[in-house]
Amino acid sequence: MMLFILRNDSSTLREKIKESSASYKFLDLYGKKLALVWPDEEAEKINDDSIEMKVKTRKPYILASNEWKKEPTKVSVKDVEIGGDKIVVAAGPCAVESEEQVETVAKAVKRAGASLLRGGAFKPRTSPYSFQGLGEGGLKILRKISDEVGLPIVTEIMDARDLPLFKQYDIDMLQIGARNAQNFTLLKEVGKFGKPVLLKRGMANTVEEWLQSAEYLLSEGNGNVVLCERGIRTFEKATRFTLDIGGMVAAKMMTHLPMCADPSHPAGKRELVHSLALASVAAGADMLIIEVHPNPEKALSDSEQQLTPESFEVLMNRIKALANALGRSA
Ligand code: PEP
Ligand code: MN
Repeated sequence: MMLFILRNDSSTLREKIKESSASYKFLDLYGKKLALVWPDEEAEKINDDSIEMKVKTRKPYILASNEWKKEPTKVSVKDVEIGGDKIVVAAGPCAVESEEQVETVAKAVKRAGASLLRGGAFKPRTSPYSFQGLGEGGLKILRKISDEVGLPIVTEIMDARDLPLFKQYDIDMLQIGARNAQNFTLLKEVGKFGKPVLLKRGMANTVEEWLQSAEYLLSEGNGNVVLCERGIRTFEKATRFTLDIGGMVAAKMMTHLPMCADPSHPAGKRELVHSLALASVAAGADMLIIEVHPNPEKALSDSEQQLTPESFEVLMNRIKALANALGRSA
Protein backbone atom coordinates (compact mmCIF):
# COMPACT_ATOMS: atom_id res chain seq x y z
CA MET A 1 0.00 0.00 0.00
CA MET A 2 1.29 3.45 -0.90
CA LEU A 3 0.05 6.83 0.10
CA PHE A 4 0.79 9.71 -2.26
CA ILE A 5 0.66 13.11 -0.60
CA LEU A 6 -0.20 15.52 -3.39
CA ARG A 7 0.73 19.15 -4.00
CA ASN A 8 -2.40 19.63 -6.00
CA ASP A 9 -5.18 17.68 -7.64
CA SER A 10 -3.77 16.73 -11.01
CA SER A 11 -5.71 15.30 -13.91
CA THR A 12 -2.50 13.92 -15.43
CA LEU A 13 -1.85 11.90 -12.26
CA ARG A 14 -5.43 10.63 -12.29
CA GLU A 15 -4.97 9.54 -15.92
CA LYS A 16 -1.66 7.80 -15.14
CA ILE A 17 -3.20 5.90 -12.23
CA LYS A 18 -6.27 4.92 -14.25
CA GLU A 19 -4.09 3.67 -17.08
CA SER A 20 -2.01 1.54 -14.74
CA SER A 21 -3.37 -1.67 -13.30
CA ALA A 22 -3.20 -0.29 -9.74
CA SER A 23 -6.17 0.01 -7.42
CA TYR A 24 -6.60 3.51 -6.04
CA LYS A 25 -8.63 5.92 -4.01
CA PHE A 26 -8.39 9.73 -4.00
CA LEU A 27 -9.42 11.61 -0.89
CA ASP A 28 -9.13 14.87 1.07
CA LEU A 29 -8.03 14.47 4.67
CA TYR A 30 -6.77 17.02 7.22
CA GLY A 31 -6.62 19.64 4.47
CA LYS A 32 -4.37 17.48 2.32
CA LYS A 33 -5.04 15.89 -1.05
CA LEU A 34 -4.13 12.21 -0.94
CA ALA A 35 -4.12 9.19 -3.19
CA LEU A 36 -3.97 5.62 -1.91
CA VAL A 37 -2.45 3.33 -4.51
CA TRP A 38 -1.79 -0.39 -4.34
CA PRO A 39 -0.10 -2.86 -4.87
CA ASP A 40 3.35 -1.32 -4.31
CA GLU A 41 4.88 -2.65 -7.56
CA GLU A 42 2.29 -0.74 -9.59
CA ALA A 43 2.37 2.35 -7.36
CA GLU A 44 6.15 2.58 -7.61
CA LYS A 45 5.94 2.93 -11.40
CA ILE A 46 3.72 6.01 -11.17
CA ASN A 47 5.45 9.38 -11.13
CA ASP A 48 4.04 12.87 -11.49
CA ASP A 49 4.98 16.43 -10.53
CA SER A 50 1.89 16.64 -8.35
CA ILE A 51 3.27 14.00 -5.96
CA GLU A 52 4.96 15.70 -3.00
CA MET A 53 5.75 12.49 -1.14
CA LYS A 54 5.18 8.77 -1.42
CA VAL A 55 4.73 6.85 1.84
CA LYS A 56 5.08 3.10 1.65
CA THR A 57 3.81 0.94 4.47
CA ARG A 58 3.09 -2.68 5.25
CA LYS A 59 0.55 -1.60 7.81
CA PRO A 60 -3.11 -2.16 7.01
CA TYR A 61 -4.13 1.17 8.56
CA ILE A 62 -2.05 3.74 6.71
CA LEU A 63 -4.33 6.77 7.17
CA ALA A 64 -4.72 6.14 10.90
CA SER A 65 -1.00 5.54 11.33
CA ASN A 66 1.48 8.21 12.38
CA GLU A 67 3.89 7.15 9.63
CA TRP A 68 2.61 9.93 7.40
CA LYS A 69 1.04 12.31 9.90
CA LYS A 70 3.45 12.95 12.73
CA GLU A 71 1.55 15.67 14.56
CA PRO A 72 -1.24 14.50 16.87
CA THR A 73 -4.73 15.09 15.53
CA LYS A 74 -7.06 17.34 17.49
CA VAL A 75 -10.75 16.64 17.13
CA SER A 76 -13.20 19.49 17.72
CA VAL A 77 -16.69 18.79 18.94
CA LYS A 78 -18.25 22.25 18.71
CA ASP A 79 -15.89 24.31 20.90
CA VAL A 80 -14.47 21.29 22.77
CA GLU A 81 -11.02 20.22 21.58
CA ILE A 82 -9.97 16.60 22.12
CA GLY A 83 -6.27 15.74 21.86
CA GLY A 84 -4.78 18.91 23.32
CA ASP A 85 -3.37 19.49 26.81
CA LYS A 86 -6.81 19.46 28.39
CA ILE A 87 -8.27 16.07 29.25
CA VAL A 88 -11.87 16.16 28.05
CA VAL A 89 -14.49 14.40 30.15
CA ALA A 90 -17.81 13.24 28.70
CA ALA A 91 -20.33 12.23 31.35
CA GLY A 92 -23.96 11.28 31.61
CA PRO A 93 -26.25 8.30 31.94
CA CYS A 94 -25.79 4.98 30.21
CA ALA A 95 -29.23 5.45 28.66
CA VAL A 96 -31.51 8.44 28.25
CA GLU A 97 -34.56 7.59 30.36
CA SER A 98 -36.41 10.91 30.73
CA GLU A 99 -35.96 14.63 30.23
CA GLU A 100 -35.77 15.18 33.97
CA GLN A 101 -33.07 12.53 34.39
CA VAL A 102 -30.88 14.01 31.64
CA GLU A 103 -31.42 17.57 32.86
CA THR A 104 -30.42 16.71 36.45
CA VAL A 105 -27.33 14.82 35.42
CA ALA A 106 -26.25 17.30 32.72
CA LYS A 107 -26.34 20.22 35.15
CA ALA A 108 -24.45 18.23 37.79
CA VAL A 109 -21.69 16.98 35.49
CA LYS A 110 -21.25 20.42 33.94
CA ARG A 111 -20.87 21.96 37.39
CA ALA A 112 -18.24 19.33 38.23
CA GLY A 113 -16.25 20.09 35.07
CA ALA A 114 -17.43 17.74 32.29
CA SER A 115 -17.24 19.20 28.76
CA LEU A 116 -19.49 16.76 26.88
CA LEU A 117 -22.80 15.07 27.69
CA ARG A 118 -23.14 11.34 27.04
CA GLY A 119 -26.33 9.27 26.98
CA GLY A 120 -27.61 6.44 24.82
CA ALA A 121 -30.83 6.78 22.87
CA PHE A 122 -30.25 3.60 20.87
CA LYS A 123 -28.94 0.94 23.23
CA PRO A 124 -27.19 -2.25 22.07
CA ARG A 125 -28.51 -4.71 24.68
CA THR A 126 -27.47 -8.34 24.90
CA SER A 127 -31.06 -9.41 25.51
CA PRO A 128 -33.89 -8.28 23.23
CA TYR A 129 -36.09 -8.07 26.33
CA SER A 130 -33.89 -5.46 28.07
CA PHE A 131 -34.60 -1.73 27.77
CA GLN A 132 -33.62 -0.77 24.22
CA GLY A 133 -33.49 3.01 24.71
CA LEU A 134 -35.97 5.74 23.78
CA GLY A 135 -34.77 5.99 20.17
CA GLU A 136 -35.75 9.27 18.50
CA GLY A 137 -37.34 10.47 21.75
CA GLY A 138 -33.92 10.12 23.39
CA LEU A 139 -32.16 12.19 20.72
CA LYS A 140 -34.81 14.88 21.14
CA ILE A 141 -34.20 15.03 24.91
CA LEU A 142 -30.43 15.13 24.42
CA ARG A 143 -30.67 18.01 21.94
CA LYS A 144 -32.98 20.02 24.19
CA ILE A 145 -30.90 19.58 27.35
CA SER A 146 -27.63 20.05 25.49
CA ASP A 147 -28.80 23.43 24.24
CA GLU A 148 -30.16 24.37 27.65
CA VAL A 149 -27.07 23.37 29.64
CA GLY A 150 -24.40 24.08 27.00
CA LEU A 151 -22.70 20.68 26.71
CA PRO A 152 -22.26 19.10 23.24
CA ILE A 153 -23.64 15.57 22.93
CA VAL A 154 -22.00 12.22 22.27
CA THR A 155 -24.44 9.39 21.62
CA GLU A 156 -24.36 5.98 19.96
CA ILE A 157 -25.54 5.20 16.46
CA MET A 158 -26.33 1.52 15.90
CA ASP A 159 -27.82 1.58 12.43
CA ALA A 160 -26.98 3.70 9.38
CA ARG A 161 -30.74 3.97 8.69
CA ASP A 162 -30.93 6.31 11.70
CA LEU A 163 -28.45 8.84 10.24
CA PRO A 164 -31.25 11.19 9.08
CA LEU A 165 -32.37 11.43 12.73
CA PHE A 166 -28.82 12.19 13.84
CA LYS A 167 -28.80 14.96 11.23
CA GLN A 168 -32.21 16.25 12.24
CA TYR A 169 -31.20 16.56 15.91
CA ASP A 170 -27.76 17.82 14.90
CA ILE A 171 -25.92 15.29 17.10
CA ASP A 172 -22.45 16.64 17.81
CA MET A 173 -20.44 13.41 18.11
CA LEU A 174 -21.47 9.90 17.02
CA GLN A 175 -20.38 6.92 19.09
CA ILE A 176 -19.75 3.58 17.40
CA GLY A 177 -20.20 1.00 20.15
CA ALA A 178 -18.00 -1.98 20.89
CA ARG A 179 -20.54 -4.34 19.34
CA ASN A 180 -20.51 -2.39 16.08
CA ALA A 181 -16.78 -1.74 15.92
CA GLN A 182 -16.52 -4.05 12.92
CA ASN A 183 -19.85 -3.21 11.31
CA PHE A 184 -18.11 -2.06 8.16
CA THR A 185 -21.25 -0.81 6.43
CA LEU A 186 -22.02 1.40 9.43
CA LEU A 187 -18.40 2.63 9.59
CA LYS A 188 -18.46 3.64 5.92
CA GLU A 189 -21.77 5.49 6.25
CA VAL A 190 -20.70 7.28 9.44
CA GLY A 191 -17.42 8.14 7.69
CA LYS A 192 -19.37 9.79 4.87
CA PHE A 193 -21.64 11.58 7.37
CA GLY A 194 -18.63 13.63 8.47
CA LYS A 195 -19.47 14.45 12.12
CA PRO A 196 -16.85 13.64 14.82
CA VAL A 197 -16.81 9.98 15.85
CA LEU A 198 -15.99 8.21 19.10
CA LEU A 199 -14.91 4.75 17.98
CA LYS A 200 -15.03 2.13 20.73
CA ARG A 201 -12.72 -0.86 20.49
CA GLY A 202 -14.55 -4.11 19.86
CA MET A 203 -14.37 -6.33 22.93
CA ALA A 204 -12.61 -9.05 20.92
CA ASN A 205 -10.55 -6.83 18.66
CA THR A 206 -6.79 -6.50 18.60
CA VAL A 207 -5.28 -3.02 18.52
CA GLU A 208 -4.51 -3.55 14.83
CA GLU A 209 -8.11 -4.48 14.06
CA TRP A 210 -9.34 -1.43 16.01
CA LEU A 211 -7.07 0.85 13.95
CA GLN A 212 -8.42 -0.74 10.77
CA SER A 213 -11.94 0.14 11.91
CA ALA A 214 -10.72 3.73 12.25
CA GLU A 215 -9.26 3.39 8.76
CA TYR A 216 -12.78 2.76 7.41
CA LEU A 217 -13.85 6.17 8.77
CA LEU A 218 -10.71 7.98 7.62
CA SER A 219 -10.81 6.47 4.14
CA GLU A 220 -14.22 8.09 3.67
CA GLY A 221 -12.54 11.44 4.34
CA ASN A 222 -13.63 11.76 7.98
CA GLY A 223 -10.53 12.45 10.08
CA ASN A 224 -12.43 13.55 13.19
CA VAL A 225 -12.05 10.25 14.98
CA VAL A 226 -11.32 9.61 18.66
CA LEU A 227 -10.42 6.03 19.61
CA CYS A 228 -11.95 4.64 22.81
CA GLU A 229 -10.58 1.76 24.87
CA ARG A 230 -13.50 0.24 26.78
CA GLY A 231 -12.18 -3.12 27.91
CA ILE A 232 -11.74 -6.45 26.20
CA ARG A 233 -12.92 -9.97 26.97
CA THR A 234 -10.43 -12.07 28.87
CA PHE A 235 -10.71 -14.99 31.29
CA GLU A 236 -10.92 -12.53 34.20
CA LYS A 237 -14.24 -12.31 35.98
CA ALA A 238 -13.44 -9.89 38.81
CA THR A 239 -14.13 -7.06 36.38
CA ARG A 240 -16.80 -6.91 33.66
CA PHE A 241 -14.13 -6.48 30.95
CA THR A 242 -10.35 -6.09 31.15
CA LEU A 243 -9.41 -2.45 30.61
CA ASP A 244 -6.45 -2.84 28.28
CA ILE A 245 -4.25 0.03 29.43
CA GLY A 246 -1.24 -1.52 27.69
CA GLY A 247 -3.17 -1.80 24.43
CA MET A 248 -4.25 1.81 24.77
CA VAL A 249 -0.65 2.99 25.26
CA ALA A 250 0.53 0.85 22.34
CA ALA A 251 -2.26 2.19 20.11
CA LYS A 252 -1.31 5.77 21.00
CA MET A 253 2.19 5.08 19.72
CA MET A 254 0.85 3.74 16.43
CA THR A 255 -1.62 6.49 15.56
CA HIS A 256 -2.04 10.27 15.44
CA LEU A 257 -5.65 10.00 16.62
CA PRO A 258 -6.63 11.08 20.14
CA MET A 259 -7.39 8.43 22.73
CA CYS A 260 -10.38 8.11 25.04
CA ALA A 261 -10.84 5.62 27.86
CA ASP A 262 -14.16 4.37 29.20
CA PRO A 263 -13.60 3.22 32.80
CA SER A 264 -17.29 2.44 33.42
CA HIS A 265 -17.90 -0.58 31.17
CA PRO A 266 -14.74 -2.52 32.10
CA ALA A 267 -15.36 -1.78 35.79
CA GLY A 268 -18.91 -3.08 35.85
CA LYS A 269 -19.02 -1.91 39.48
CA ARG A 270 -18.97 1.73 40.52
CA GLU A 271 -16.38 1.03 43.26
CA LEU A 272 -13.76 0.42 40.55
CA VAL A 273 -14.52 3.37 38.29
CA HIS A 274 -12.38 6.02 40.03
CA SER A 275 -9.22 3.91 39.91
CA LEU A 276 -9.69 2.87 36.29
CA ALA A 277 -10.35 6.48 35.27
CA LEU A 278 -7.22 7.71 37.06
CA ALA A 279 -5.11 4.88 35.65
CA SER A 280 -6.27 5.85 32.15
CA VAL A 281 -5.29 9.49 32.69
CA ALA A 282 -1.91 8.41 34.03
CA ALA A 283 -1.44 6.28 30.91
CA GLY A 284 -2.08 9.22 28.59
CA ALA A 285 -5.80 9.24 27.75
CA ASP A 286 -6.91 12.50 26.13
CA MET A 287 -10.55 11.94 26.98
CA LEU A 288 -12.70 9.95 29.41
CA ILE A 289 -16.32 8.88 29.02
CA ILE A 290 -18.00 8.13 32.33
CA GLU A 291 -21.49 6.93 33.21
CA VAL A 292 -23.31 9.09 35.77
CA HIS A 293 -26.96 8.68 36.83
CA PRO A 294 -28.98 10.76 39.31
CA ASN A 295 -30.17 7.55 40.95
CA PRO A 296 -27.95 4.67 39.76
CA GLU A 297 -29.84 1.97 41.69
CA LYS A 298 -32.95 2.75 39.65
CA ALA A 299 -31.14 2.95 36.27
CA LEU A 300 -32.74 0.99 33.41
CA SER A 301 -29.32 -0.20 32.19
CA ASP A 302 -25.85 -0.65 33.70
CA SER A 303 -27.10 0.32 37.15
CA GLU A 304 -24.15 -1.23 39.01
CA GLN A 305 -21.46 0.81 37.30
CA GLN A 306 -23.00 4.29 37.10
CA LEU A 307 -21.67 6.92 39.48
CA THR A 308 -23.82 9.27 41.50
CA PRO A 309 -23.32 12.96 40.65
CA GLU A 310 -21.61 13.39 44.06
CA SER A 311 -19.12 10.63 43.36
CA PHE A 312 -18.50 12.05 39.89
CA GLU A 313 -17.64 15.42 41.41
CA VAL A 314 -15.09 13.79 43.71
CA LEU A 315 -13.64 11.91 40.72
CA MET A 316 -13.43 15.09 38.62
CA ASN A 317 -11.40 16.75 41.38
CA ARG A 318 -9.05 13.77 41.48
CA ILE A 319 -8.73 13.82 37.67
CA LYS A 320 -7.92 17.54 37.75
CA ALA A 321 -5.24 17.03 40.41
CA LEU A 322 -3.65 14.18 38.46
CA ALA A 323 -3.82 16.10 35.19
CA ASN A 324 -2.03 19.03 36.84
CA ALA A 325 0.68 16.72 38.15
CA LEU A 326 1.17 15.49 34.59
CA GLY A 327 1.43 18.98 33.15
CA ARG A 328 -2.05 18.80 31.65
CA SER A 329 -5.43 20.15 32.73
CA ALA A 330 -8.93 18.71 33.03
C1 PEP B 1 -22.12 2.65 26.13
O1 PEP B 1 -21.23 3.50 26.06
O2 PEP B 1 -23.20 2.84 26.71
C2 PEP B 1 -21.89 1.31 25.56
C3 PEP B 1 -22.89 0.50 25.28
O3 PEP B 1 -20.58 1.04 25.40
P1 PEP B 1 -19.85 -0.21 24.71
O4 PEP B 1 -20.25 -0.17 23.26
O5 PEP B 1 -18.42 0.09 24.94
O6 PEP B 1 -20.33 -1.45 25.42
MN1 MN C 1 -23.64 1.51 29.57
